[in-house]
Amino acid sequence: MSSFPYRKGVLHAEAVPLPAIADAVGTPTYVYSTAALTQAFRAVTEAFSDARPLVCYSVKANSNLAILRLFAGLGGGFDIVSGGELARVRHAGGEAAKTVFAGVGKTQEEMEAALAAGILLFNVESAEELEALDAVGRRLGRRAPFALRVNPEVDPRTHRYIATGLKTSKFGVPFEEAVDLYARSKKLKGVRAAGLDCHIGSQLTQSSPLRAALGKVAGLYQELKAQKHALEYLDVGGGLGITYSDETPPSVEEYARVVLNATKDTGARLVLEPGRSLVGNAGVLLTRVLYRKQTPAKHFTVVDAGMNDLLRPALYEAHHAFVPLLKRRGKAVEVDVVGPVCESTDVLAKARPLVLPQAGELYAFLSAGAYGMSMASNYNSRPRPAEVLVDGEAWRVVRERERTEDLWRGERA
Ligand SMILES: *Cc1c(COP(=O)(O)O)cnc(C)c1O
Repeated sequence: MSSFPYRKGVLHAEAVPLPAIADAVGTPTYVYSTAALTQAFRAVTEAFSDARPLVCYSVKANSNLAILRLFAGLGGGFDIVSGGELARVRHAGGEAAKTVFAGVGKTQEEMEAALAAGILLFNVESAEELEALDAVGRRLGRRAPFALRVNPEVDPRTHRYIATGLKTSKFGVPFEEAVDLYARSKKLKGVRAAGLDCHIGSQLTQSSPLRAALGKVAGLYQELKAQKHALEYLDVGGGLGITYSDETPPSVEEYARVVLNATKDTGARLVLEPGRSLVGNAGVLLTRVLYRKQTPAKHFTVVDAGMNDLLRPALYEAHHAFVPLLKRRGKAVEVDVVGPVCESTDVLAKARPLVLPQAGELYAFLSAGAYGMSMASNYNSRPRPAEVLVDGEAWRVVRERERTEDLWRGERA
């Protein structure tokens, strides 16, 4: 059952009517469901059952402290891509020992902080980065545990902007270079090979690219074990897609079958890095209609949320369902829903059949829990939205709306 149901024509988050939140907190506001977050996390651990993988939530999908704390409380670890994300994880009560660190551009300062904190795994993305990590390890008198992120060179068949495992991608080490790099790492005193990692892309809606990639990576893992590298972890990345409109991604059970089947002969402890699939459908963005605008060519609905609040449509041509908080009857017309930002790409929903929205009405962009608030910016000097977490009949603000004076914090005139 959805955690955002209509009850008597009013859209709810769990048991809370969303207009009540919009009226109390204002708009635009992100609203998340504790039940949806919890269910999504538990579905993963249940689908993998006896394999007992380490589920490292990918922080960049939604880095609100309340969400990090919730996943930490469910036993989750974290997948981070910056020192800032590590600081967030620790501030929210997450464990460094259950955290893995990816990204092509880790600075030595970030590596040092992570190693000192006792991170589980550095997912290393180039030969030079491995040397830098070695230097950091020697400086701190420790061996930094690492996994090479290999590029399995498969097409994940997702939007080209979120494919990461192609031959032309900036991510990971070319597959053929991995054996050699692990061999060279044996001579480095500041690192120790502890695993192998891959991540082929995001919003995967088919299991075949994943099956192909993990087959290759599992084979490499066994080859490296045969070469006496003391690997323990096989990190299969994230990327499981969700339904935004009519996509039919693999279920989490199907995903688990594919992963477990591909990796069963490795004997490795699995690390998973789900982001979107844990939070995407656990959040919505509330917005209020400002104006109707009709031109000879089109109906426009101008809303108070813009691309600075929800970047995905402008960045990835992404689709978010746009629904009224109070259900309406009437004849649908085709509408473009646009934000106030001065950019032609600030179109949040294109050519949607809607009963013509009226000024003052409240709407929600659905499936906005992932890569929504975490990508929000102050472009056009717009304060970023508030965030609310619902739990049953209760709700609380988990991030205040930015105030006008926050816009120039740190600036000097
Ligand atoms: C972004 C990212 C993820 C999470 O991807 P989702 O599609 O949100 O599941 C996992 N691992 C790495 C290395 C990433 O960069």
